[in-house]
Amino acid sequence: MIDLNKLIRPNIKALRPYSSARDEYSKAAGVFLDANENPYGSLNRYPDPYQKALKETISTLRSIEPKNIFLGNGSDEIIDLLYRIFCEPGIDKAMIFPPTYSMYKVSSEINNVNLVEVPLTPEFQLDIKTVMELRKTEVKLAFLCSPNNPTGNTLFTEDVELLLRNFMGIVVIDEAYIEFSHKESWLKRIHEFPNLVVLQTFSKAYALAAARIGVAYASQEIISLLNKVKPPYNISTPNQVAGIKALAIKKKTERYIKTINEEKEKMIARLKVLDLVLEIYPSDTNFLLIVVKDANKVYKQLIRQKIIVRNRNSVVSNTIRITIGTPDENKKLLKALKTITL
Ligand SMILES: *Cc1c(COP(=O)(O)O)cnc(C)c1O
Repeated sequence: MIDLNKLIRPNIKALRPYSSARDEYSKAAGVFLDANENPYGSLNRYPDPYQKALKETISTLRSIEPKNIFLGNGSDEIIDLLYRIFCEPGIDKAMIFPPTYSMYKVSSEINNVNLVEVPLTPEFQLDIKTVMELRKTEVKLAFLCSPNNPTGNTLFTEDVELLLRNFMGIVVIDEAYIEFSHKESWLKRIHEFPNLVVLQTFSKAYALAAARIGVAYASQEIISLLNKVKPPYNISTPNQVAGIKALAIKKKTERYIKTINEEKEKMIARLKVLDLVLEIYPSDTNFLLIVVKDANKVYKQLIRQKIIVRNRNSVVSNTIRITIGTPDENKKLLKALKTITL
């Protein structure tokens, strides 16, 4: 059993959080002369610091209580907050499994937290034997990404479960792409594992990258810590409203996801026959990682035609990562790929 108390940084444990002007009285009606706001205008009031309306909507949709939900200014803010809550700079470590989402490393460097890096196997799965040997006590956090960016695959449930049961720190499972996958989310299992944090986002399937809304699901204890450390007004009122609206058009979102997944299958079939494409990795996401003959050249020639893909040559040799766009955008990419000379 993990002891959350031992994992929290002492300064965070001792912290008395900023008490925001609206913490004590949160009703909509009243004469508000407490926060030095301008009484005129339409965006003149500070936003709800705990985003109650948006959380209620998420709660109903996911059958998870609001007390198990935290909202961040994108998942990226939540990743940063987790480092700050659990990892003493220069002392505690975190574990990541490259090739994976690059923010885990950037955020660790900003926070001066050393990383233990355990590369994924050639099949992009956890090297579980090495992971189990390395789960030392000073490793406070492990960032798993499943489905993984940039490889597109889902991590084996048995491996993740083994880690959840035996690792004496917090296990974060980043599910930014879960809506595109047919595999099970870890969301329903937060009550089973007190050290589990599931991250999701409005930036991908919900088509709301501009609004910056990331979601963490976890035990009430972990959610309270995130609330304690976050900037009081971390999500603006227009963005909270945008989040609620995005969830209200559930049917439309489901149609988008279906279309994107169908387009993905079409793209696989069309890319496969191209000479320069050597391999297409299986994908549970809205992107494809493909191996090409010369990724740097392909990337540069596409840029010249104003088509921007992600060159992942530096993390997986000779790969480019292609997001599935509209049918028209996908056609343009294929047309451009056919003009490439290596
Ligand atoms: C895109 C992405 C996110 C989203 O981050 P936001 O800050 O919520 O936009 C998170 N994790 C992974 C792995 C991603 O690829």
